[in-house]
Amino acid sequence: MNEKLHTLIEKLLEWQTDPDWWPGSSVFEIASSAILTQNTNWNNVEKAMHNLLDSGIDSWEKLLYDEDLEKHIRPAGFYQNKSRALRALAGLFLSTPEPTRTQLLNLRGVGPETADSILLYALNKPEMVIDAYTRRILEKCNIITKKCSYDELKTMILGELPAHYDVNTLKRLHAAFVEIGKRYCKKTTKCNCCPLEAIKERGTS
Ligand code: SF4
Repeated sequence: MNEKLHTLIEKLLEWQTDPDWWPGSSVFEIASSAILTQNTNWNNVEKAMHNLLDSGIDSWEKLLYDEDLEKHIRPAGFYQNKSRALRALAGLFLSTPEPTRTQLLNLRGVGPETADSILLYALNKPEMVIDAYTRRILEKCNIITKKCSYDELKTMILGELPAHYDVNTLKRLHAAFVEIGKRYCKKTTKCNCCPLEAIKERGTS
């Protein structure tokens, strides 16, 4: 057992109580935004999603056949790659409303972080999302010292979750990593205001 990681997870779950953190009111909106958020900030995702929804693109079928898809999602950047990934995702969801992780990972433009975000927040499946904030917090709080793979980090975190955790626990935990990362754990850290400060100062076991 990694006592320090276990305590950090407990603290994060105390801090973030809302599981409905990822914006979006449908599988279509949440899964599309998981593609759009790659390598950009959420403001740009919102602009792209507004363009889509304001143009009446609110389903996989409409997205798949929309000739202006690239124009609509341009604010999110990398719009050619993202439009390809969105069309591939639309095709998958139209044939398989509850795709597996393997099916998602087989799509071009969908990596582990995007696949797990879609599974967790759009489909309510018990997956843990690992992102840059998760890594940075664990590194800067001296819990990991080397570059771990996505799967290593995911296994490490899943092994320290409270007993009987559920989908909402995983949603809250990822949300907490992101929000703590945005507010306190930037390039220059604000440890003295951060709810994890006491944990950072502990030994590593
Ligand atoms: S701001 Fe400091 S205490 Fe908070 S997560 Fe980052 S390193 Fe840890």
